Amino acid sequence: MSFISIRSVTKSYSKGKSMITPLENLSLDVPKGEFLALMGPSGSGKTTLLNLVAGIDTPTSGELVIQDRDIANLSRAELTRWRSVHVGYIFQLYHLVPILSAYENIELPLLLGKFSKSERKAKIIAALELVGLSDRAHHRPSELSGGQEQRVAIARAIVHDPGLLVADEPTGDLDRESADSILNLLNDLANKHGKTIVMVTHDPKAAAAAHRTLHLEKGQLIENLQPAH
Ligand code: ADP
Ligand code: MG
Repeated sequence: MSFISIRSVTKSYSKGKSMITPLENLSLDVPKGEFLALMGPSGSGKTTLLNLVAGIDTPTSGELVIQDRDIANLSRAELTRWRSVHVGYIFQLYHLVPILSAYENIELPLLLGKFSKSERKAKIIAALELVGLSDRAHHRPSELSGGQEQRVAIARAIVHDPGLLVADEPTGDLDRESADSILNLLNDLANKHGKTIVMVTHDPKAAAAAHRTLHLEKGQLIENLQPAH
């Protein structure tokens, strides 16, 4: 059974009087623990697909089952609750709160659940350790490098232990060295911690760090045509 099972999903938006359909009859299976890269031209629907998988948006039609739960027909409120338990989202520009320390940023998703202060502390310390930033807990984002900011953002995405991580261009704003270390971290999260990861990227080196790459073109997914590495 796939961790993510997408069957004939179509997503349309109305734009004035006309309709735009970035995803048409798309199907995809992602096994648990896979690190999947999605590539494709700008406007091809990568973020749209990521937002469906993350439960931020719902398909116009089709089936979307994640970890045995059909999320295509959940209400807004049900979707929000589902997402807060099962999904971690990683952004290109980190989206950290500037006036909060790394520790406090990582705490944010836990404030949505019923965790005691000491339970939260244990989880935050474990997440900081996992991303290699135990010594930066009390730094603010402006006191960190871009690569370190993205590590804090990844710690925030995993602190509530979701099975699924989605990442939209997570290395798009980083130098090569920082990007490579973030890709290693994502690889470890899949290989050692069993996270299922869907990452959008424009960078062929980032895609090569994933287990599999798919290209989104004209609403459809195409297998990578490059030779296997
Ligand atoms: P990508 O991430 O591959 O650049 P997107 O998924 O952001 O592409 O967008 C795919 C298409 O859907 C684009 O034409 C975009 O303008 C359109 N689109 C995305 N989100 C919305 C929305 N909320 N309302 C209307 N159109 C949208
Ligand atoms: Mg996008």
